[in-house]
Amino acid sequence: MATDYDSPRKTDDDVNEDSLEELKARRNDKTSSSVDVDEAEQAEGFELPGADLSNEELSVRVLPRQADEFTCSRCFLVHHRSQLASSNGSQLVCKECAA
Ligand SMILES: [Zn+2]
Repeated sequence: MATDYDSPRKTDDDVNEDSLEELKARRNDKTSSSVDVDEAEQAEGFELPGADLSNEELSVRVLPRQADEFTCSRCFLVHHRSQLASSNGSQLVCKECAA
């Protein structure tokens, strides 16, 4: 019984080695021929994140105005509240423009 286990294992190993070499050969063929496809797919995937980043930059630009800041209605620059010279309703004017 014990020898029966050993002999099938040996043949299994031999078969595995043979199939491994076969797989290696096939892999080499596949990788060499599929490299172009992978690069094309990666290039397409890289373009989308780039577009998303530009959108994020736009949204980040809007964010900097915080609760203690205001946008001047004349120069359209964001100033700290301490720079607020006058406010007529929603018309906020900074000290630089009011001067
Ligand atoms: Zn201003």
